[in-house]
Amino acid sequence: MAEESNGSVEKHLEIPEIKFTKLFINGSFVDAISGNTFDTIDPRTGDVIAKVAEGDKEDMTWLSKPLEMLLITGNGLERGKIMMKFADLVDQNTNELAALDAIDGGKLLSWGKMLDIPQSAQLLRYYAGAADKIHGETLKMSRELFGYTLLEPVGVVGHIIPWNFPTTMFFMKASPALAAGCTMVVKPAEQTPLSALYCAHLAKLAGIPDGVLNVVTGFGAKAGAAMSSHMDIDKISFTGSTEVGRIVMKAAADSNLKVVSLELSGKSPIMIFDDADVDTATDLALLGILFNKGEICVAGSRVYVQEGIYDEFERKIADKAKNWVVGDPFDPRSQQGPQLIFVLRSLGDKTQFEKILSYIEHGKNGGATLLTGGKAVGEKGYYIEPTIFTDVTEDMVVVKDEIFGPVMSLMKFKTVEEAIERANKTRYGLAAGIVTKDLNIANRVSRSIRAGVIWVNCYFAFDRDCPYGGYKMSGFGRDMGLEALHKYLHVKSVVTPLYNSPW
Ligand code: NAD
Repeated sequence: MAEESNGSVEKHLEIPEIKFTKLFINGSFVDAISGNTFDTIDPRTGDVIAKVAEGDKEDMTWLSKPLEMLLITGNGLERGKIMMKFADLVDQNTNELAALDAIDGGKLLSWGKMLDIPQSAQLLRYYAGAADKIHGETLKMSRELFGYTLLEPVGVVGHIIPWNFPTTMFFMKASPALAAGCTMVVKPAEQTPLSALYCAHLAKLAGIPDGVLNVVTGFGAKAGAAMSSHMDIDKISFTGSTEVGRIVMKAAADSNLKVVSLELSGKSPIMIFDDADVDTATDLALLGILFNKGEICVAGSRVYVQEGIYDEFERKIADKAKNWVVGDPFDPRSQQGPQLIFVLRSLGDKTQFEKILSYIEHGKNGGATLLTGGKAVGEKGYYIEPTIFTDVTEDMVVVKDEIFGPVMSLMKFKTVEEAIERANKTRYGLAAGIVTKDLNIANRVSRSIRAGVIWVNCYFAFDRDCPYGGYKMSGFGRDMGLEALHKYLHVKSVVTPLYNSPW
């Protein structure tokens, strides 16, 4: 069984004070018009942390004034300066933001301070630097015409984001949209609304004009659906499940045909070849599935190992998984916190925790061998052991479905061709990992896998410069990199006769 971190957790606690629980609209924190609230839950205990305003359709009527707001955001240099200030404030509030994500989403406080929050500030700075360099191009026209393009903000953007990286996802979406000069409403996931409201407070302190960045907390089926079908929202940037992405796209088509980009689910393969160093490869594969307790869209949940090193790999990864420390996300010794707690629409009243455990049962009953893990950890909270299945094939549910938990399927392969064929046997295409010293294999496999990002001899090597998004049912559109800016811009062509009149 995985080791539990216990003992003197209390002395490490940095439980945050909950200051913001209302909608942030036009620069003010306000109650939902209905007066309704919902509970946000601590996955360490199942206790209610706070009651948060439940926004809905009627809380978005102010969006009918988008053009006025766009004028306020018209100067790229000014936008960049404000965004730099916003980034400094994010840095200065690292502890508060990391603690909010830890209590609301069960995320490790230590990783939040080291990764999620610093990366959020860097995303803001990266796009701030681009805000005054957005321009079109002069066109080589085929006739005696002078033609050029303008890049203009797409308008009012609705960002709908998931619960697994609440702060980072907020800035991954808001930063390029702010740089592009858009106004926006962010709807955080109902399971993790707290850090988004704190970010709204920082946006105000940074000097972002009222009405430019708004946060509406609430349920997907209500507030999220109202955004997808809103006639005054010009673009939805959605990150979440494939199932909901489809609903969002339909709503956009049935309303004002708003532009949609979708970052969706995944079931990513990691392929480890015979020439790999087994110790390094086991570390990489283990982190590939256990980082953020497996609640990451690019989790390396299908691990393919070549037959020459398979037995050694299996033995070593099992040992390492057993020693992985599952425990309180506020305890610096923990390597894995509790699974997020929430009710899954598609599975009646089951929680994410129960969903993962039911997939594990499915694996056991479906003929897979449980190499390690397979159970909940402790009596209190929603912790699950790092779990590895062997003797699995691509037609099994545990290998096909995105489990979104600490559950790996480990498989053996013989040839490079077989690895490529089996890795591509999925409806998803977010990411893939390759571990080899052979450049020919690395190059060949990179080009043969249908996925938006390929990590060679690394995994989770995210970088703000690197566009990121899906193939197949993992969606379309790219976050990060300068590529993401273009999600929030329209191209306008302007044409005029070069001489008096060509007609
Ligand atoms: P989800 O699809 O249930 O919810 C995502 C967001 O959509 C939430 O804000 C939710 O309130 C909202 N929503 C729900 N129903 C809606 C509706 N009918 N209309 C409009 N909005 C609605 O996903 P989740 O459970 O929050 O997150 C986990 C999923 O997100 C996983 O499938 C994961 O792979 C995916 N994900 C993808 C990426 C990526 O970049 N591709 C990143 C993180 C997570």
